Amino acid sequence: MDPLLARMLTSSRQCRCCGATFAELLSLSCDRPDIVPADLPVQDNTAVFATEGDVLTEDFCRFGSLRFLRAVLAIPIADTADEEFILGTWAGVSEEVFDDYLDLFELRETEGLGSLPAWLSNQIPPESGGPLACMLHMRPEGQYPELQVSEVNHDLARMQELGIGLEELLGFLHSYGHDLASLVYDA
Ligand SMILES: [Zn+2]
Repeated sequence: MDPLLARMLTSSRQCRCCGATFAELLSLSCDRPDIVPADLPVQDNTAVFATEGDVLTEDFCRFGSLRFLRAVLAIPIADTADEEFILGTWAGVSEEVFDDYLDLFELRETEGLGSLPAWLSNQIPPESGGPLACMLHMRPEGQYPELQVSEVNHDLARMQELGIGLEELLGFLHSYGHDLASLVYDA
């Protein structure tokens, strides 16, 4: 492993913008799909069952005719045993899939849905274009489903396949506004 990366993974230095350590920043999350305006409040998951019309909860979003599920997109970090950069993001799915997922969610049986086509509904990194075609793989035991980018020539697909190095990872964190100088130097 890159010795600088190895040091950063265990460093207690904190990002000047948010107070997170480098290791903590390996898990970033988007609280809503990009298309959903910031003034739609995030509610408890029960709201999706209790209401009709537009609603945003921790794991679900109904917005006009659009439907979204909370998902993760993982990018392995090259030359490490199993470190990953995990983006908490949103998968755009059909109304039918959304309804099926809701039915199975409380039973913790969403894994039965298998793998389904979906759209990555946050631009990763920001301003990179989209939405991007993906496969959404269900996972057991109430874990978030995982997105795998389907467009093989896309940067994100390459990163998921081959992993990213330290420089690219730092570029990601910078694009999300984190203060690299406070994390990297004297790491
Ligand atoms: Zn920060």
